[in-house]
Amino acid sequence: MSDIIRRDPRAEWIARNRLHPLHAAMQPAQHSWMGPNGVIRKNPHGIGFIGPNGIKRIDRSGAQQGGATKRSAAVEVQLPLHQVPAPAFYISVVPDMVGGRLSSHDRDLLGLAHQLAGKDGAVLAVVFGEHKESAFATAGVDRLLVLEGEEFSGYAPEQRVQGLRAVDNQFSPRHWLLPDSRSGGGELGRRFAAALGERPATRVWQVKDQECIGRAGAGLQDLARPVARLILAAVECAEPVSETRHEALPVELSTTVARSLSRIEDLGAVAVDPAAIPMAEAEFIFSGGNGVKDWGLFHRTAQALGATEGASRVAVDDGFMARDRQVGASGTWVTARVYVAVGISGAIQHLQGIGACDKVVAINLDPGCDMIKRADLSVIGESAEILQALIAAVEAYRNEAKRDAA
Ligand SMILES: Cc1cc2nc3c(=O)[nH]c(=O)nc-3n(C[C@H](O)[C@H](O)[C@H](O)COP(=O)(O)OP(=O)(O)OC[C@H]3O[C@@H](n4cnc5c(N)ncnc54)[C@H](O)[C@@H]3O)c2cc1C
Repeated sequence: MSDIIRRDPRAEWIARNRLHPLHAAMQPAQHSWMGPNGVIRKNPHGIGFIGPNGIKRIDRSGAQQGGATKRSAAVEVQLPLHQVPAPAFYISVVPDMVGGRLSSHDRDLLGLAHQLAGKDGAVLAVVFGEHKESAFATAGVDRLLVLEGEEFSGYAPEQRVQGLRAVDNQFSPRHWLLPDSRSGGGELGRRFAAALGERPATRVWQVKDQECIGRAGAGLQDLARPVARLILAAVECAEPVSETRHEALPVELSTTVARSLSRIEDLGAVAVDPAAIPMAEAEFIFSGGNGVKDWGLFHRTAQALGATEGASRVAVDDGFMARDRQVGASGTWVTARVYVAVGISGAIQHLQGIGACDKVVAINLDPGCDMIKRADLSVIGESAEILQALIAAVEAYRNEAKRDAA
């Protein structure tokens, strides 16, 4: 195993959250403390560990003490397993799986599905085509149905509706949940509703007391209605599952899905200039701050990565970036899946603007700055050196892919 210290943001979050059932387990063991009269007290029994044969061992090399005083974020949190051996009913979720992985919107939906499933129901996730996700179990999936086949890949809403109809016939879910998103769920949900002849509840942000509440009137009003069978839910419709682990048992369709006579031909993705994407919609943002010393290199790196450029207020005020690129409280609030902050300290006004980003990568000289605390992955060092290394890595990766394709 490599010696690189990897952070576990989930374990850190549990350690901070006093209401979490596993909070106590994630605290560092306290071996000495200040007594009421100012004298340091030690607990000699707290030192050491229980060996494999049940005998207490003390490691005097110092390595264990060093590790024990730090909160061990690397400790694997073993969450209680939630099992539903014989589900009384199913709640079906069709995640967007942008990039082959569950998005935070998908996870919110799985949280909502568990609210509706209670103890007796099982959450059935229906996934199309190949995926790269390995965390279905901790995201709350009790049963996993993968509909494979090239007919489902790419933009194939008609074929996917056929697949969902086959799932509906076999499992008769009590509710269907789809993300009301632009990444596919919004359209698929509406097409599926039309195929079933159901009236879906759209832009739902809360399901409570047998009612679902959705946004209406250009987002200015709430519309409450009895819980619909088909729910197209908005982001943050529920808390994602965080306190249980699930079985994610694979299930299969007993029938084959009929091929639809497609009236749509998928001509593939269209190349878009990342600079032309509005900041609020960009999925991958490469942002520069006061720690960027070579702006030419910064632009070259953003281009090599195919990312949309962003900036801190200082970078904008100093004239290195346009005002419409400013991220933060007095700039744009962004929702990128990946946000790379180069030489940005993480002032509260900047962090407010990236609150909804999925993964944050920080490049900074100062390991103690707030951006590093917020980041999921940090690279400590001189920004120019790191950006050069990044360009070299991207080029090497592309060349290798070209060689493999040739
Ligand atoms: C009302 C109000 C609204 C504001 N709104 C916004 C807003 O919308 N957006 C916003 O961003 N700010 C906003 N600010 C400003 C904000 O408070 C900060 O001043 C600003 O975000 C700091 O920008 P910075 O992180 O780029 O610069 P700094 O705070 O100067 O940080 C530079 C960082 O770069 C690192 N660094 C330095 N040299 C290198 C190097 N060679 N390699 C790698 N790292 C290096 C440093 O360690 C430091 O962490 C607002 C402030 C106010 C008062």
